[in-house]
Amino acid sequence: MPSVKGRAVQVVAAGGDFELVEKEFPEPGPGHVRIRVQACGVCHSDAITKFGGFPGIEYPRVPGHEVAGIVDAVGPDVPLFKPGQRVGLGWHGGHCNYCVPCRRGDFILCQNVLVSGINFDGGYADYVTAPANALAFVPDDLSDLDTAPLMCAGITTYNSLRHSGARPGELVAILGIGGLGHLAVQFAAKSGYNTVAVARGADKEPLAKQLGAHTYIDSTTQDFAAELQKLGGASVILSTLTNAESLTQAIGGLGPAGKLVILGVPDKPFEVNSVPLILGNRVVAGWASGTGMDSEDTLNFSVLAGVKPIIETYPLEQAPAAFDRMMSGKARFRVVLTTGN
Ligand SMILES: [Zn+2]
Ligand SMILES: [Zn+2]
Repeated sequence: MPSVKGRAVQVVAAGGDFELVEKEFPEPGPGHVRIRVQACGVCHSDAITKFGGFPGIEYPRVPGHEVAGIVDAVGPDVPLFKPGQRVGLGWHGGHCNYCVPCRRGDFILCQNVLVSGINFDGGYADYVTAPANALAFVPDDLSDLDTAPLMCAGITTYNSLRHSGARPGELVAILGIGGLGHLAVQFAAKSGYNTVAVARGADKEPLAKQLGAHTYIDSTTQDFAAELQKLGGASVILSTLTNAESLTQAIGGLGPAGKLVILGVPDKPFEVNSVPLILGNRVVAGWASGTGMDSEDTLNFSVLAGVKPIIETYPLEQAPAAFDRMMSGKARFRVVLTTGN
């Protein structure tokens, strides 16, 4: 398995430009798999690589953690994967197996966790090499373009919902209908929750209903927390928003023992009124994506239930434009690089 040549779009330095380069992708080492990328989603967290949002990122670095591809080469000590298999790589880029959370099986909480496109080169490229223990198998019935956004936006919403404690029939509200939110609404509705979509403007209502929302609340004309209380209070509110005030407000929409799960990083720290938390056993929580197996569950559920991302596509060499489009917040709803398609 010799090295191969291919294109990559790398960030030259924290806050620096993207550059398209031709580079060598060496044969994978022990425990690693080289993937021929077919598609890669563009996620807001790619800004961490672009702007140096985490300490210690080594540059140049290729972003991208929503990878759909084909196993191209397999290193030693990889019993599970074979060349030609379709696989996905997400945010979770491998775990150490030896820290305390790993020894308990909580691989997503690994203290030495690797993040694809941050700790090693990611999917804005023709090839990506990743630890085998981070990968998911892609079901035959799912296209590469549909798989890519499910590897971060999809798994994060699906996996947080299924671990939220909400039971079928209970009231679940999704704040925001964007890259994450448009998938979260579908997952919530298909999981049998009484699904409320909350977004800005009356124009988003038809789409929210089409995605499966039972109720739509326009937060520009209605107090969404009061509206949720009228419906009995939410068991779970899943927030994809970045607006800190909305998170403060959301606590008022929780029912008894309700949980606010935060998936989007707010623009500043937000205030929490402790009284409703104490008097009603309410919880404010976060959720960190999931492992390769969680991704595989997300992909299989999406095929089973007919969950489908709505995407805009760009060829790999237009990755800078794709990134700008994602950052503009105007994409409907997820931007995907069509590398091999
Ligand atoms: Zn992401
Ligand atoms: Zn670990």
